[in-house]
Amino acid sequence: MAHFDLVIIGGGPAGLTAGLYAARANMNAILFESKGVGGEILNTDLIEDWPGEQSITGRALAEKMAEHAERFGLKIELKAVDKIRSEGDRKIIRMADGTEHTAYAVIVTVGGEPIKLGVPGEEKFHGRGVSYCAVCDGAFFKGLDLAVIGGGDSAFQEGLFLTRFAKKLHVVHRRNEYRAQAILQDRLLGMEKVKTVTPAHVKEIGGDADVKWIDIERNGKVERIPVEGVFIFVGFKPVGRHLFEEHIDHDDNGYLITDQYMRTNIPGVYAAGDTRAQLAKQITTAVGDATTAVLHAERYIEELKHAEKTFPKAEPRVLAEETERVRTIRYVPGETIIKKGDVSDRFFIVLHGEAVAVRDDGTVVTTLENGDHFGEIGLLKGTARSATVKAKTDTEVLVMDRASFERIVTSSAAARSDLEAEANERMKALQL
Ligand code: NAP
Repeated sequence: MAHFDLVIIGGGPAGLTAGLYAARANMNAILFESKGVGGEILNTDLIEDWPGEQSITGRALAEKMAEHAERFGLKIELKAVDKIRSEGDRKIIRMADGTEHTAYAVIVTVGGEPIKLGVPGEEKFHGRGVSYCAVCDGAFFKGLDLAVIGGGDSAFQEGLFLTRFAKKLHVVHRRNEYRAQAILQDRLLGMEKVKTVTPAHVKEIGGDADVKWIDIERNGKVERIPVEGVFIFVGFKPVGRHLFEEHIDHDDNGYLITDQYMRTNIPGVYAAGDTRAQLAKQITTAVGDATTAVLHAERYIEELKHAEKTFPKAEPRVLAEETERVRTIRYVPGETIIKKGDVSDRFFIVLHGEAVAVRDDGTVVTTLENGDHFGEIGLLKGTARSATVKAKTDTEVLVMDRASFERIVTSSAAARSDLEAEANERMKALQL
């Protein structure tokens, strides 16, 4: 078993981006990918909507992204993750080979899998004429009549790829309007060898040893179209939620629900890319989501480590949950963080910089540095602030509200008594 600060699951554009940022931040991180790095883009022939590359193959872009992240030190292991569970403030990542790793945070970027059409013959002929990946299988169908099913970006993009091999390509779609991008529609439908079959529902896929025909229903009539390859692109099913033993919030279609920081409902678990509920399943949005996720995860891990040092005897699960709710605030030199006499409603841990507790006459009682905390006396005693604390340098503090503080302190008797003993020492030093 190895312990990491961060485990990234999935090696598509989102995972590789999270990995790149984690590596550049020197985080103790690893990326697990069960197949080959690149994810969904490996199944894409040409990518023309990745800024800076007018046209690049999916494979080339995947290789570039992986090489980039690895050059900055990202560890990538081609191993499958089986399940993730929470234990205290750690995530336990069980691998398919039975080994387990732990991490403070996990970023899930596992994408999904193609939705099946669910018609007779689809399963039987899978691999014998039925395919869900034109880039992988298209070349086996040189000079044959083919059908692509669906009206979205995938069907059109993959359809375009198939026109290299197909003698005739039928685009079978259940409506007359397509949802694919206009540029893809113009290109594909403008080709002589492309025939549209709409509005049509596939009823059956048939043949002998291999596919030989599809039956479609159009305007109430069933028609048989001779084809030797059927490429199905009727959408995509996210798989991220199946990794979790505990409940993880997802929408009706199974996409993981996150907030603006890509946090799921499980503390320390983030989701990015195609497995996350969002409008645009694009490489550009996947890498943007992943950047947000990893930057927030980095902060969460740092805050959790500080919280653990401050409350070593508190219940770890409570610490993880409440760390999700803390805020960080920056103060400029000389700025007052708390003022004597004010209501005691928050607790503070110094993350960066230095702050000083001062008496009324301005003399410094104590200097507070990285990892030091303050603000607990009033919260524990139910009194107003007993001293003023000011930033000495540019100072960043973790701020916990009263409810979080109380939940942590009451999560174990030892946590409270330790903190009370410390507060009493402080009060003596402050001559209160
Ligand atoms: P999609 O956009 O959901 O399109 C699925 C298509 O399949 C739709 O046209 C839908 O018809 C049809 N369909 C769904 N269920 C069907 C059924 N049971 N029988 C027959 N037809 C059915 O899925 P996608 O094309 O896989 O794309 C997924 C996401 O990835 C989208 O957000 C897409 O924009 C994105 N993507 C982007 C690119 C790119 O180049 N930037 C490339 C690939 C994918 P209706 O239209 O009638 O619903």
